[in-house]
Amino acid sequence: MENKKIESPKDIKNFEDYKHLVDLLNFYSYKYYVESAPVVSDREYDRLFEILKKVEEEHPDWILKYSPTQKVGSDLIDEFRKVSHSVPMLSMDNTYNFNEVIEFDRRIKRLLSIEEDLEYTVEPKIDGVAISLIYEDSVFKRAITRGDGFVGDDVSENVKTIKSLPLKLLKELKGRLEVRGEIFFKYDDFYRLNKEREKKGETLFANPRNAASGTLKLLDPKEVAKRNLSLFVYYLISEEVNINSHYERLQFLKSLGLPVIEEVKKLNNIKEVIEYCKILEQKRENLSYPIDGAVIKVDRVDYQEKLGSTAKDYRWVVAYKFEAEKKQTKLIDVEFSLGRLGTITPIAILEPVHLAGTTVTRASLHNFDEIERLDVAIGDIVLVQKSGEIIPQIVGVVERPKDRKKIIPPEKCPVCGAKLEKDGDVYLRCPNPKCPDKIYKAIVHFISKDAVNIEFLGPQIVKMLIDYGKISDIVDLYKLKFEDLLFLEGIKEKSIKNILNSIEKSKKVPAYKILFGLGIKNIGEKLSKQICGEISSLKELVNIDKDPLLQAKILNLPDVGEIVLNSLIEYFRDEDNKKRILELEKLGVNISCKEHDKKDIFKGKRFVFTGELSFITRDKAKEIVEELGGEFSESVSSKTTYLVVGLSPGKTKLQAADKYKVKKIDENEFLDMIKDYIDLEALKKEYNSRKITSKVNKKKQETKNNQKGEQLSLF
Ligand code: NAD
Repeated sequence: MENKKIESPKDIKNFEDYKHLVDLLNFYSYKYYVESAPVVSDREYDRLFEILKKVEEEHPDWILKYSPTQKVGSDLIDEFRKVSHSVPMLSMDNTYNFNEVIEFDRRIKRLLSIEEDLEYTVEPKIDGVAISLIYEDSVFKRAITRGDGFVGDDVSENVKTIKSLPLKLLKELKGRLEVRGEIFFKYDDFYRLNKEREKKGETLFANPRNAASGTLKLLDPKEVAKRNLSLFVYYLISEEVNINSHYERLQFLKSLGLPVIEEVKKLNNIKEVIEYCKILEQKRENLSYPIDGAVIKVDRVDYQEKLGSTAKDYRWVVAYKFEAEKKQTKLIDVEFSLGRLGTITPIAILEPVHLAGTTVTRASLHNFDEIERLDVAIGDIVLVQKSGEIIPQIVGVVERPKDRKKIIPPEKCPVCGAKLEKDGDVYLRCPNPKCPDKIYKAIVHFISKDAVNIEFLGPQIVKMLIDYGKISDIVDLYKLKFEDLLFLEGIKEKSIKNILNSIEKSKKVPAYKILFGLGIKNIGEKLSKQICGEISSLKELVNIDKDPLLQAKILNLPDVGEIVLNSLIEYFRDEDNKKRILELEKLGVNISCKEHDKKDIFKGKRFVFTGELSFITRDKAKEIVEELGGEFSESVSSKTTYLVVGLSPGKTKLQAADKYKVKKIDENEFLDMIKDYIDLEALKKEYNSRKITSKVNKKKQETKNNQKGEQLSLF
């Protein structure tokens, strides 16, 4: 069943259809939360989610435990230490009109058995990523993401880069204080980041929220610092603080030096709440950060506690989601753009109009069915909206002048002139595998940082190499010789050597990076990693269409459903794609998914460690360095390659490193070096269980234990 056919709950006719819808939403959630690369708009996701909710109301016996209505979408990733939340971090129910807001007020009063007006606090709903901040004795201790609501990722080092985060609170408080808030991008910082990514040929973030979640997951805090994240806090958890009003608690947080959003208001009843929601909706256009609604919270904390939560949401809070911002403007032309996978998208060229923090001059018209449905033509006055996608959408026509010009679907590819073919019911595709724009986009994706990372080969050089007929496929990169690059204007010999060296280096990247670099529809970096964990070589995928066992194995992976499997099968049905893998292997590119040159990576390198690492003991560090072919030493000398510096490092080693000019790296840099060869998750598990066992033993000895705080999870 295709997603476009799910128009209403009536389209879900049986349990199989229901299960398909659950799988589809879980797949969208995975792309959204884990890969920070949504494949559908938030509106589309919310529309399908509402259908799912209605179907489950009618068929409670169908409800699957893993249905997205039963849990918070998880954004956990392998690379960070897992920490349990002291109080679950849940999501909140949405309302889309004021009748639903009034119904929320009635429901709350019913649950509390009261009839009088209830006080609420209303706050802007910032479109970012939820974070939990923990302070002990007024000092910042750690920051944890929402994760799956119960266990989150420890992203403290990344959060510490936020300028408005106080590392020490303004008042001396004893004990533990937990504050929850939102990490987000201001519009200016978001557009600057995407501009830089565009220059480097990297995939753009769909919206500020995806950019914030992608940034929080980076393993290098220095890179995070460059991007300039922002923070607002909106919730306090503390047994020590005895304030029974949510609004007053926010004022208290402000007095501690924490950033609290200005536009917070305490209101006397639901009527005033609705009026303030309207004001916020109008204000939103002038804010420097993205908001997508208003959050309505029962103000009394004792009431909040009484109301509690469902498996997914807190009962005392609801979001009133704003309509996506819309503006009128004139459609002055239509261009046809060719995507990496060959699909043609009609792009509307607009008279400039200011919308949600930017000047909009282009908007997507999606496909030719959409043009017909909207009955839109050149010269029309159209309605443009931004709703979570990077490129605004045309959602309606306000005026159709007499001299309007019909939009005619192109017959030929705008780049190579090949005759276009239909792709499904609504899309047009360029079938020419040698189409230069398709090749360009595919190669730029392949060489990008998250794929095989050919550092010295930027999009500009790729373009020149294609234009001069030197490359027409990723495979050709590995055939390039020094002479092939001599013609490049303004590029010196040294740069040519750097390019060739970085191409050579890329032959050794883990095979999942190659798989991701192939740019197969729906297969992101994380999924590539999971798939490679199931096979011994990429060669196995070549015949996946005839291998039901392999299909079943891949389908069994936690984040793989039919959509992903079908994408893989379809890609490898194409003879050219099969050949590509075999050729890469012949050219010396690593396609083995198992023992990937493990022995070599630290060859000739000597490591010294100082201070404590977060989940690697000194013995384990020695084992890892030696397993990867390096040497481990207890003291720094002129022969040391790296000094790995952990918490509370020793002065002597640091001084010796300075004396011998030894490169100092921190734990994250070390983890980055080994992450593709060592199972970090298993390491963490081993470390945590050892730590918990020793904790238990300690507890037995000293019966009084008043240690508070979060526990290390066993994940
Ligand atoms: P949500 O974003 O709708 O609302 C909950 C979040 O709001 C909280 O976790 C918190 O981070 C945030 N928030 C902002 N301001 C707040 C304030 N003042 N007080 C309290 N919280 C505040 O819920 P969610 O569970 O994070 O995400 C669900 C939404 O994500 C869906 O409605 C959908 O739009 C989107 N989504 C989209 C896709 C896709 O493929 N496009 C997939 C999955 C989810």
